[in-house]
Amino acid sequence: MYYFDYAATTPVAPEAAEAMVHALTRAFGNPSAQYPLGREARDAVAAQRAVIAQALGCDAGALYFTSCGTESDNWAIRAALHIGRHTGRHIITTAVEHSAVLEPCKALTQEGYEVTYLQPDHAGRITADQVEAALREDTALVSIMAVNNETGNVYPIAEIARQLKARKSRALLHTDAVQAFLKVPLHAQEDGADLISLSAHKIGGPKGVGALYIAPALQSKMIPLLRGGGQEQGLRSGTEATAQIAGFAKAVAQRADQLEEILAHTRAMRDYALERLLSIPTVQVLGTPDAPHILCLTLPGYPSQNLVSELGDKGICISAGSACHKGKPSHVIAALRLSKKEAAGAFRISFGEKTTPEAVDALYDAVLTHKNSRFPML
Ligand code: PLP
Repeated sequence: MYYFDYAATTPVAPEAAEAMVHALTRAFGNPSAQYPLGREARDAVAAQRAVIAQALGCDAGALYFTSCGTESDNWAIRAALHIGRHTGRHIITTAVEHSAVLEPCKALTQEGYEVTYLQPDHAGRITADQVEAALREDTALVSIMAVNNETGNVYPIAEIARQLKARKSRALLHTDAVQAFLKVPLHAQEDGADLISLSAHKIGGPKGVGALYIAPALQSKMIPLLRGGGQEQGLRSGTEATAQIAGFAKAVAQRADQLEEILAHTRAMRDYALERLLSIPTVQVLGTPDAPHILCLTLPGYPSQNLVSELGDKGICISAGSACHKGKPSHVIAALRLSKKEAAGAFRISFGEKTTPEAVDALYDAVLTHKNSRFPML
């Protein structure tokens, strides 16, 4: 099998799986329990939180565990609007966010909020100037992702944070950094976002755990997401998912340890794939592949769902999943304002530390064979 869908999810690193088994079977105490087994679990979660916080560039006390990136996004948006309730009911986001941001925003319009969706240019770019132009007195929230999950475009979060400060805006800045964490430079304290969403399963951790960074100045103003036993400093009750958290932290530690090598390899594989696939006549790049692990391409006129299923039969996993939903281009591809043929042919390949040049060669052969064995649509 050749796996090119690291932006969808990643295999759990063996050491992370081992840490999870240990937490599930040996150190299985409830962190709230008062006897040694409970204390052991509590200390482990505290140490694991510190590992992830260090990789994000914040204090451990600013990092709250959640069940996934989607939960972190939903919580961040609701909490920011609660904190900014006296500022107003205007939200700025982009037309190319993940549905974990777009769907809550859509629901909020039913509750009287007004949402400005910034449109990318043809290369998928969003600029800080667009944010500035859309900013109003009543803007309570700016929510902009750090890396686009379909195109790999990086958005200028630190610059947006600086601009909001310079304008003395009361808007809070949230960034969905699910595709950015340990993939591109990201530093909570230096970048200046108020809220940052993370997910473990994009970086060799397990599914079912994420985190939300909450800037220190906001912590006392947050409304709890879940009320109950008071875990996560009273803001997100529920017995800690000790195994998932152990796997998350181990994956972070391992990745952070070898980050430069991993990113150099990922980037090299992406560049090699780019060079090979662009040698196929008519293949084009979509967006701007700033992030090292994501490449969005199109084979104009060849519907990507056919390509994905033909490659899948050969054991090659690529995605039109979010790039093409039920035969329609995704909202991200649609926002690039391409021709019908270009949009229909959009597919995403994404890379990780285990991607090899041989896998890229197999992908190239399969895409070329697909093109040569079919007639273009339209
Ligand atoms: N945000 C982005 C940019 C993503 O790529 C994803 C996952 O695909 C999510 C949010 C959702 O993360 P999770 O699967 O942990 O809910």
